[in-house]
Amino acid sequence: MTATTPLSPARELIGLSRDELAAALVEMGEKPFRARQLWHWIYHRGATDFAAMTTLAKSLREVLAANYVVGRPAVTRDQASLDGTRKWLLRFADGNEAETVHIPEEDRGAICVSSQVGCTLTCKFCHTGTQKLVRNLGAAEIVGQVMLARDALGEWPSPQDDRQLTNIVMMGMGEPLYNFDNVSTALKIVMDGEGLSISKRKITLSTAGVVPMIRRCGEELGVNLAVSLHAVTDELRDVIVPINKKYPIAELLDACRTYPSSSNARRITFEYVMLRDVNDSPAEARELVRLLDGIPAKVNLIPFNPWPGAPFERSTDTAIAAFADVVFAAGYSSPVRTPRGMDIMAACGQLKSDSVKLRKSELLRQQAAGAA
Ligand code: SAH
Repeated sequence: MTATTPLSPARELIGLSRDELAAALVEMGEKPFRARQLWHWIYHRGATDFAAMTTLAKSLREVLAANYVVGRPAVTRDQASLDGTRKWLLRFADGNEAETVHIPEEDRGAICVSSQVGCTLTCKFCHTGTQKLVRNLGAAEIVGQVMLARDALGEWPSPQDDRQLTNIVMMGMGEPLYNFDNVSTALKIVMDGEGLSISKRKITLSTAGVVPMIRRCGEELGVNLAVSLHAVTDELRDVIVPINKKYPIAELLDACRTYPSSSNARRITFEYVMLRDVNDSPAEARELVRLLDGIPAKVNLIPFNPWPGAPFERSTDTAIAAFADVVFAAGYSSPVRTPRGMDIMAACGQLKSDSVKLRKSELLRQQAAGAA
């Protein structure tokens, strides 16, 4: 079913937890158990029109329609890469924008979900970090990205097998652990077995290292953890991943060592962007191996993806292969991530919306309207 209603923060049912949904029904004089039926329609069937929710009494459907909406983020640009990757630019009710990417593979597919408009972290190699405007996305705006992808892939009702959307990576714009409450509400909705039903084993949350939130993430959500490490000394990491000044490498790795959901079967992924002559020597690979000692880990090597004005170059293939060999020889899986969606700037670290520009144009429009 195609949605036409945009997400509307004041009247939106998407993003409410089960308890909140039940409370909303009670407020309308309904029995709280109706929440289960409503949940089924919204998250299992993907319905956006109350009139279609035929197991609910007509009177209830009318009251719902008078008070609430079930919307989707508005898509302002929809781009498809030659390799099948798809990127949606979303615009929310306040005009702010963020991006969602679908990365299809032969027998599965991941969506890369954003947690914030922009990002406060200013990692030197990341395009999103150059964006001025930042705000947290609400739970509805986060869950809405998954639902929108489901719409686009035609995957309603939630299929059990042969899904094109099997995995979720919280690796889009923003730092998810700086918006933990909303991310947590959203992921609990996504994981609910009577709805979108994507298990915690298929969800990976990536952090640049907000150490105090890591344990809570493991305890409350139990999702897979990915850590954007990118350097093996504090000296370098302080510069390229500035949050390191607050939470240095040793503290970050301690938090990983005790991450509640990790085990040999569910290893922590360490992401390492390969920057030519910056962090890509064999000596650094050996130091990485030393640092990871005792952590159930795998290492994801990400060739640097360029963006306009970026102050780095991608490591050579030879340097990447040599680095991967050292890590692999020490017993860690060390895949080199194939960049996806490069032609539409959808690869890791290339996402950036025009929220600032939009703001300006919005202002100009308002000024023009005022002058007329
Ligand atoms: N803030 C979180 C979530 C963003 S994830 C985090 O830092 O983990 C985005 C991933 O892409 C991170 O591992 C990030 O370091 C990586 N990345 C950013 N810019 C990149 C670029 N230009 N090329 C390759 N990878 C990049």
